[in-house]
Amino acid sequence: MRFLKALALSVSLSCSAFAAETKTDTVVLVTIDGMRWQEVFRGVDNAFFDQDAYIAHKKHHADFKAKYWRDTAEERRAVLMPFLWSTVAGDGQLYGNRDKGSEGDVTNRYHFSYPGYSEILTGIADDERLVSNDKLLNPNRTILEWLNGMPAYKGKVEAFGSWDVFPYIVNEERAGVPVNAGFEAYEGDTKRVAILNELQEQVPSPWDTVRLDAFTMGYAREALKREKLNFVYIALGETDDFAHDGHYDQYAMAAHRSDKAIADLWAWLQLDPRYAGRTSLIITTDHGRGSESLETWKHHGRFPYTKEDGTTAVSEFAGDGEIWMAFLGPDTPARGEVAGETVTLNQVAPTAAALMGLTFEDSHEVLAHGEVIEAAVRK
Ligand SMILES: [Zn+2]
Repeated sequence: MRFLKALALSVSLSCSAFAAETKTDTVVLVTIDGMRWQEVFRGVDNAFFDQDAYIAHKKHHADFKAKYWRDTAEERRAVLMPFLWSTVAGDGQLYGNRDKGSEGDVTNRYHFSYPGYSEILTGIADDERLVSNDKLLNPNRTILEWLNGMPAYKGKVEAFGSWDVFPYIVNEERAGVPVNAGFEAYEGDTKRVAILNELQEQVPSPWDTVRLDAFTMGYAREALKREKLNFVYIALGETDDFAHDGHYDQYAMAAHRSDKAIADLWAWLQLDPRYAGRTSLIITTDHGRGSESLETWKHHGRFPYTKEDGTTAVSEFAGDGEIWMAFLGPDTPARGEVAGETVTLNQVAPTAAALMGLTFEDSHEVLAHGEVIEAAVRK
């Protein structure tokens, strides 16, 4: 679905009440790359794990099952992502459990990362211009650039990504927003930054373009500590790459580590008077993954390819446009796991702005951004 500007004008007018006062003056947005809603809401699936490749590693298989396998979906998800299913489920909101009629979807055509992240950050799906994961400077303005253009937030916006394409998605130079991504060292004068920079050179990443998330989260924490920031974007990447590699156990363990890292960050934010009671957390993902068989969960995305007979086709993995999202903070009513309500990825940026008491403005001439998720913002 594509909203045109003229059509959306009435929508944004009816949303103008959102320029109201909110408690939030900082938003921390975290994405967990290609994390399926199936694991978020059902926990690990033993069909994936009770296979020869895993069973052969007897001790690992037993340890993994002991840690992550339970009889019910509610128990399994709670051991996989305990922060989501305690703090967020208790005090915030979770969207995207299709088992309960809450569908989350991307609106872009491609179902892979660059278009997904751009949709999250700009509120629009620019299907004409954003057609690959190449390092192309985003022609559209993200919420980071929009905020950084306002005197009140200038210099108070930063982004951290495990994937080295984020400086292009955010359009770092034009935006004037620092983006630390890929294998870049971070500029900072704390002891911890120095240690992370040193380790980043010494610890090998399994991937060419994606670093391990501990560095991304570690640098982001130091940035938040150094000075009061108003918008921090943290893009974690391990889940997607372990999934592409076909390592379901590592994918699940990466999800567990992501949840723990976010839990630690949230706990620290509640102890710092600059952030406590004034910070909203949003967690989401850029796309889903295949859901049809044990094979397609590794994959996602609509890519053109040449078939054996020489004709061309476009890849298709059912379910890879399905996403989820979570909200937590002083302006989000506690509704826990939401049932029967549909959300789309282009609603993240407008909703983040609304949590800060602002009405998001995208930069596209024709397309219009998604609507605010009103139920996630207390009026
Ligand atoms: Zn991927």
